[in-house]
Amino acid sequence: MSDDSVRPVSESEISTWDLSVDVVVAGYGIAGVTAAVEAARAGADVLVLERSGGWGGAASMAGGFIYLGGGTPLQKACGFDDTVENMKTFMKAALGPAVDDAKIDAYCEGSVDHYNWLVEAGVPFKEEFWGEPGWEPAHDEGLMYSGGENAAPFAGVIPPAPRGHLPKMGNKKTGERGGGYMLMKPLVETAEKLGVKAEYDIRVLTVVVNDDGRVVGVVARRYGRTIAIRAHRGVVLAMGSFAFDEEMVRDYVPALLGRPGSAVDAHDGRAIRIGQALGAATAHMDAAEVAVHTSPQLMIRGILVNAHGQRFIAEDTYPGRIGQAILFHQKNEAFLILDHDAYDEALQSGSPLPQPDWVCESAGELEQEMGLPTGTLTSTVDVYNMHAEGGSDPLFFKNEKWVRPFGTPIAGFDLRGMTSGFPLGGLKTDTDSRVLHVSGEPIAGLFAAGRCTAGVCAGGYASGASLGDGSFFGRRAGVGAARG
Ligand code: FAD
Repeated sequence: MSDDSVRPVSESEISTWDLSVDVVVAGYGIAGVTAAVEAARAGADVLVLERSGGWGGAASMAGGFIYLGGGTPLQKACGFDDTVENMKTFMKAALGPAVDDAKIDAYCEGSVDHYNWLVEAGVPFKEEFWGEPGWEPAHDEGLMYSGGENAAPFAGVIPPAPRGHLPKMGNKKTGERGGGYMLMKPLVETAEKLGVKAEYDIRVLTVVVNDDGRVVGVVARRYGRTIAIRAHRGVVLAMGSFAFDEEMVRDYVPALLGRPGSAVDAHDGRAIRIGQALGAATAHMDAAEVAVHTSPQLMIRGILVNAHGQRFIAEDTYPGRIGQAILFHQKNEAFLILDHDAYDEALQSGSPLPQPDWVCESAGELEQEMGLPTGTLTSTVDVYNMHAEGGSDPLFFKNEKWVRPFGTPIAGFDLRGMTSGFPLGGLKTDTDSRVLHVSGEPIAGLFAAGRCTAGVCAGGYASGASLGDGSFFGRRAGVGAARG
């Protein structure tokens, strides 16, 4: 068969099985490792097939946020009250529209247990909260707001709680032994102790089905040779998103073309296409996580304007929400406007800050330099200042702590095109991680989790949702596959 084909292979075409196990897991990232652990604990003989030379995937490079709540021991230790109901309400409001309610209910109801499961597996969390604006904590703190829970439009209506749980970094800073690695390493060690076997440099091409349409194995490619691996009980697809498949990005989420981010190039959408070739349903293929590449320490102290010089969002919200707003609703064009005092204050935070692209003595001069239509930025700044004198932001409800009238000099930062991200859509699965056929029935023998599935995010995003639902539903995929 050609390497490009994802058409299922009929069992009758397999003359010899090169390997034979109970459960095959395709991909050794976060969804794969958690599936492997649970399948092995359920008594299955488990083999993980990984395309690259080692375990980890995008997960081991990640900052490590895991979105958890409902009153985890870490939240309590850091002095925060959270409830399962508040977590559900927030996730349904912030990750939609059209979230999978059953998935979010299961995820929130199981969240404290999932935290304890991770801790028991050896994932370390430091009992310290990081309250500064930013994408991640500056050091090895374990808890942070990671979805805009404490900002408009949510803070006033849903009691806020931080839910971004971070494994304690091995060397107090991101990079080597960062949060994602400190999540993956103990999980892989747990899997190894349970007898999970792993084979590297093997690329899963597609699945094998029997006459009843049940998935009974996979076909893979290793060093130019095609091999067949029998899975007596089930197959788990855990091969990541389609961020690096240009054709799929073009077809489903064209705004992301040429700007993949927070993904690895093995995320080629193959798991999704394998499922589609079997008749699997997909969901939310047009949704994406989007990062905007500038400092939240600056954004929160300034105003963000579009190409018409108008504000469009509360600048103190989750920066990923800002990224989505820029890419999807402002044609990827935005500018950050800030005065000298605000820049100085942000400098005190110690965060690395970019230099402004324009610095002027007035908003009028700045809008000319920036090429904005005359009067647009001036009127935006005038209105902002008028309300900021009284400490309010009646347009977007930025927290009064961050609202201050502009002084001079005033600077502009060019954020046009400064976004990247990864798709959130994928195979439609149920709460037991069974892959669903377009008819709504589960496809026998086939399970999936992680970014090759449509998880708890349908449109919106919160940092930690990928490692969160990848690990949570990865576990369920492992349990289901072992059950057979
Ligand atoms: P992965 O963890 O990438 O695992 C998929 C594995 O499948 C890979 O090892 C890949 O090589 C393998 N594979 C692919 N194709 C095949 C094939 N054909 N055969 C065999 N194996 C195959 N998310 C968060 O929730 N919180 C964060 O803080 C966060 N920060 C991030 C920071 C960075 C720098 C990056 C890169 C990502 C970050 N993410 C974060 C995103 C998150 O890491 C991924 O979305 C998540 O790891 C997806 O889980 P997964 O199991 O689906 O994929």
